[in-house]
Amino acid sequence: MSIKEVKAKSILRKHKKIDSWFISRYGMNLYRGCTHNCVYCDGRSEGYYVDGEFGKDVTVKVNAIEVLQRELDPKRKRTPFKGGFIMVGGGVGDSYQPIEKKYQLTRKALNLIYEHKFPVHMLTKSTLIKRDIDILKKINEQNRAIVSFSFSSVDDKISTIFEPGVPHPDERLRTLSLFKNEGIACGMFLLPVIPFVTDTQELMEETIKKAVDAGVDFIIFDGMTLKNGKQKEYFINVLKRYNPKLTTEYDNIYTGDKWGNATQDYYNSINQLFKTTAKKYKISKRIPISLYNDILSENDLVVVILEHIDYFLKMKGRTSPYGYAAYSISQLKESLSSIKRDLLKLKGIGKTTERIILEILETGSSSYYKKLSEE
Ligand code: SF4
Repeated sequence: MSIKEVKAKSILRKHKKIDSWFISRYGMNLYRGCTHNCVYCDGRSEGYYVDGEFGKDVTVKVNAIEVLQRELDPKRKRTPFKGGFIMVGGGVGDSYQPIEKKYQLTRKALNLIYEHKFPVHMLTKSTLIKRDIDILKKINEQNRAIVSFSFSSVDDKISTIFEPGVPHPDERLRTLSLFKNEGIACGMFLLPVIPFVTDTQELMEETIKKAVDAGVDFIIFDGMTLKNGKQKEYFINVLKRYNPKLTTEYDNIYTGDKWGNATQDYYNSINQLFKTTAKKYKISKRIPISLYNDILSENDLVVVILEHIDYFLKMKGRTSPYGYAAYSISQLKESLSSIKRDLLKLKGIGKTTERIILEILETGSSSYYKKLSEE
């Protein structure tokens, strides 16, 4: 393993529009590279330009806290911060990978987030996050914190092979319960499920059941991408050792899409399985509106709800105009309330969408969303 220390010019990454998966406007990566070394990690693919050998080498942004201190200072901002969670995690390096024990950048960043009164959403696979329960509780009491863990399933043996550097799923579930018992909202990111390995009905059911028993507020699901190049080569080598017969199945669903997507038929089948199982256990498939409708601007709230409606409809195999309508609203400079009478003039907004928007502006929620989310 080698550690490279670098000085970063910026830390806080501003999204062009609100990210409706994480309900965040800003994200940050304090490390590049990840010794958790998950076999399916797309951080391994060439497009992310991670230095060194992925899984072994890590780049540490040693001046991250100094830079972040500047970036979070409202006096230095020309435009005010947008509402929403600051997302810590995801990307190409887990914020709680082992190197964090030494550098403590995540802990120091959380202290700054608390000082500046932002809500935070953490996503990790490491139980080291327990170390920061004190500061996360303070953020949650002051504003709000969500703690999410990602899983490919709850099977310990499969995890040992495909996620060799992280605590077993049972330990992750116990950590989620710990945070939940402290009053912090928790989520499972069931992604990626590994085709023909963790996408079976039995395992999906066991995973969702255990997550619900652990007390999660939501489960967000997605399939796996496998980009040609380093990511695919590395993955297929491990898959061959796990079960060589599966390589033909992979050839059938990963047919060279430039983003590494599997076939739509395959994604439709696992989405359907997830949807049916999530319904059985009555678990939300998106972050519940009550966890964010008081911290977003009205435009962002509408964008998120429309995108979630779009997601639910697509899960049902239907086409939807709501994704485009959400995009159109995300480009607005003025607030929706100020142009209430002119909504139909906006691109992609018809009578039905107008009704949904007006309901959200009035109540902070949508009955159509609620109905779809329960199907
Ligand atoms: S924990 Fe996340 S970033 Fe790290 S190797 Fe696994 S998938 Fe990649």
